[in-house]
Amino acid sequence: MIPIIRPALDETEVAAAARVLNSGWITQGPEVAAFETEFAALVGAPAACAVSSCTAALHLALLAVGVRPGDEVITVSHSFIATANAVRHCQATPVFVDILPDTYCMDPGQLEMALSPRTRAILCVHQIGLPCDLNAILAFARPRGIAVVEDAACAVGSEILLEGAWGKIGGRGGDMACFSFHPRKILTTGDGGMITCQDPQQAARLKRLRQHGMGVPDTIRHHASEVIFESYDEPGFNYRLTDLQAAIGREQLKKLPYILERRRQLAQNYRRLLSAIPGATPPGEPPWAHSNFQSYCVRLPPGTDQKKVMQSLLDHGISSRRGVMCAHLEPACADLPRRLPLPQSERARDETILLPLYHELEPSTQERIIEILRAACTRQ
Ligand SMILES: *Cc1c(COP(=O)(O)O)cnc(C)c1O
Repeated sequence: MIPIIRPALDETEVAAAARVLNSGWITQGPEVAAFETEFAALVGAPAACAVSSCTAALHLALLAVGVRPGDEVITVSHSFIATANAVRHCQATPVFVDILPDTYCMDPGQLEMALSPRTRAILCVHQIGLPCDLNAILAFARPRGIAVVEDAACAVGSEILLEGAWGKIGGRGGDMACFSFHPRKILTTGDGGMITCQDPQQAARLKRLRQHGMGVPDTIRHHASEVIFESYDEPGFNYRLTDLQAAIGREQLKKLPYILERRRQLAQNYRRLLSAIPGATPPGEPPWAHSNFQSYCVRLPPGTDQKKVMQSLLDHGISSRRGVMCAHLEPACADLPRRLPLPQSERARDETILLPLYHELEPSTQERIIEILRAACTRQ
């Protein structure tokens, strides 16, 4: 069976986990602090805060930029459900805008239509690792005093040309960016998340919120020579990452350059091979963006039956997934007021499939995958 993704784990992660188990400090501690420092340095962010998942990261980031009950947050429906759920965790309302058909990311031209006096933030998504048009989104948000949070769950290592300079997603850009370390993403700690932010004071607040609103972290009390009583200044959460996960994450970070290089080569190979299938469209990559190809999304030739194609791949031992879901079509979002039509989001869900892509995938296997895909598309 060819999986959709395979995590890059080996003896180095095993040794890192053993180091933590032998240390006697298992949950959020020195490894988490080091992971935050190393992650922030890697993407070029002033500060970072590790949490238990990207969903937790999105929830805290939205709270920290000031999203309150009754507010509206402009986002995309065409995303994993966690994007919309994070807005709802703040008792705010997600207002969905459509995507662009070639990049599968937020259409900045629709922001004006979605705007209302209750708009507090824009939650944009770097979908399946391709940066969305941050230049346009920031140009819209900044003069209006609207916060920008980036759902960068899939976008570790992706790059964008922002205001004239290239940088990694999460370095500069919106107020905060949120990353995931779920095994379906490029780097994994089992579960886990990271928030990068532009304002170090905001990072300090995020670090209190993730640990029950506690004013003094355990690490400080542990090393103190005088008794310290902590205080709880606002209601917080338990969104801690463990030191066990952070130690694994630190090893994963070292592998990122290799993983990115491999994925980009394999994506290029898919693009070349796909030219053999008339009407199949490889993913777009604008000149101002470098994707990490967290997923490889192919738009099937017009009129192709998506499910039949996926079944045919499965019959040959090849995993695939349908295009990214649309939150507004799920029962979980049935109660949301729907204001804008989302035809491109719906088409992308139903007309695209995601192909296997992981660092160990062999070009010869890609050839087989595309040959079976070609046969399945032409048989119809
Ligand atoms: C995976 C994903 C999430 C959720 O990440 P978790 O770490 O599983 O909470 C959020 N947004 C997007 C776009 C994702 O792909």
